[in-house]
Amino acid sequence: MIGLISATAAGAVARDRLAAAWPGRTRVYEGPVRDAVERAFAECGQLVCFLATGAVVRLVAPLLAGKAADPGVVCVDEAQRYAVSLLGGHGGGANLLAEQVADVLGCEPVVTTATDATGMPGLDTLGWPVEGAVASVTRAVLDGDPVELRADVVWPLPPLPAHVGPAADGGAVLHVTDRIVDIGAGDAVLRPPSLTVGVGASSGAPADEIVGLIEETLRDVGLSALSVGELATVDAKASEPGIVAAAGHFGVPLVTHAAEYLADIDVPNPSEAPLAAVGTPSVAEASALAGGGQLLVPKRKSSPKGRAAMATCAVVRRRPRGRLAVVGLGPGARDLLTPRAAAELRRASVLVGLDQYVDQIRDLLRPGTRILASGLGAEEERARTAVAEACAGHAVALIGSGDAGVYAMASPALAEASDDIDVVGVPGVTAALAAASILGAPLGHDHVSISLSDLHTPWEVIERRVRAAAEADIIVTFYNPRSRGRDWQLPKALAILAEHRAPDTPVGVVRNASRPDESSRMTTLAGVDPATVDMMTVVTVGNTATRDIAGRMVTPRGYRWQS
Ligand code: SAH
Repeated sequence: MIGLISATAAGAVARDRLAAAWPGRTRVYEGPVRDAVERAFAECGQLVCFLATGAVVRLVAPLLAGKAADPGVVCVDEAQRYAVSLLGGHGGGANLLAEQVADVLGCEPVVTTATDATGMPGLDTLGWPVEGAVASVTRAVLDGDPVELRADVVWPLPPLPAHVGPAADGGAVLHVTDRIVDIGAGDAVLRPPSLTVGVGASSGAPADEIVGLIEETLRDVGLSALSVGELATVDAKASEPGIVAAAGHFGVPLVTHAAEYLADIDVPNPSEAPLAAVGTPSVAEASALAGGGQLLVPKRKSSPKGRAAMATCAVVRRRPRGRLAVVGLGPGARDLLTPRAAAELRRASVLVGLDQYVDQIRDLLRPGTRILASGLGAEEERARTAVAEACAGHAVALIGSGDAGVYAMASPALAEASDDIDVVGVPGVTAALAAASILGAPLGHDHVSISLSDLHTPWEVIERRVRAAAEADIIVTFYNPRSRGRDWQLPKALAILAEHRAPDTPVGVVRNASRPDESSRMTTLAGVDPATVDMMTVVTVGNTATRDIAGRMVTPRGYRWQS
């Protein structure tokens, strides 16, 4: 039960909002505040006090019994700006409660416990089954005590702090394995979903025969059923009740494959019976192997008493799939970096990027993140490194400014990557959009981006595209418009546009959009001064309909109700 205590009218309003949001979870304590806090402290597992932290500190101080016994206490200030986890952050659940309260009241959670403040991942965050002394190993991870990590192979785990790793010894052991291992009293095991069990069954095969066969097979070879990631079979058996129920029993998806596909897979024990029945000489072994991996247990048959076997199974261990997140950081300002990008930065254990971008987001990273920063010009190497780390099984974030897919790292990286890694893209606010929002509404109609860098693209190609945009009356944003060694391209490109647009066509020049030294100006096609343009700048040229309206660059959308 969560005890709610307030002293003022504003506090009572917030208190009632919380009580209404969580029916049955809260109890309101009224009367003199000291008395209310005392009663709630004795009767509730958690308290939310709509009082100043100082007042609450004085009120609860005489009541404190110890970390294990005290309730979690959260304070909310009079203006409801903050929900402060004051006491019992972990044991009392106050850190989590502060976040939940903040969600309901729309305020900021304040958590000062070192581990939560730095965002240490919990053992349960991966969604993988855990066995053993989970609570005490979690505690050790959070408290900074050494935890030895013993993983059979590299899994795309989130970053772990220095006191958790293969070299940390003297404390608890955290195993990451699909094998049944002897563990000490204080140890725990994380079960990765590494096993695919291929299943074959005659029509009407009972579920318990299939489940029994799988469990016995895994036990015989020392594998944990908690690491079964999927059951696999042939398409024709997709709705075979016993197989469907077996997948339900293990809580995993049932994956099915076409018979022709399975027939092509090399297996140690092909046979005639399934070939006649479903069109492939192997169901269990071939469907287990269909997603790749190593065959740990060749085909086994069930052995029911007094009748013929109706089920077969085979077990394959899959190679972990690494994870590559390609993350756009936005144009510069922190509040233009999306929450999803921030979450991916914290999910990755390896970060790859240009050194200046790494510096921009270093504070968002979790402790233990391996940072592979390199300088300008090392694009190819960065792409290779990111993919190689993901191929090795790690969770990798490859970062780029703006959107990582716009003149940036996504394409060279994905050109390198094969289908044996998972790729997650996080879009970012690209420079053209950041600049447009500063200028007004220049992109209200069809628009293109053209990079004027002839480093990777021959000038003839660039010129042809500029000409096409000019002829089609499309708004153009120039990226990489001008550098010290490349100064004639921008005037040339503007001259091509001027063949089809009036000299007074609005042009926006935006430098360092959303960065501290942001500057912007609106000029005209005839008036652009190339000296004001450099590599930190984008140049947006309007189409024939673009206007300067009240100092803002506006391209009409062409609504009929507008003249
Ligand atoms: N991936 C980036 C673009 C990389 S190309 C993005 O989506 O924004 C580099 C060019 O982008 C620079 O030469 C400049 O023209 C433009 N650029 C990037 N960030 C900018 C910013 N904050 N303000 C203005 N232009 C920017």
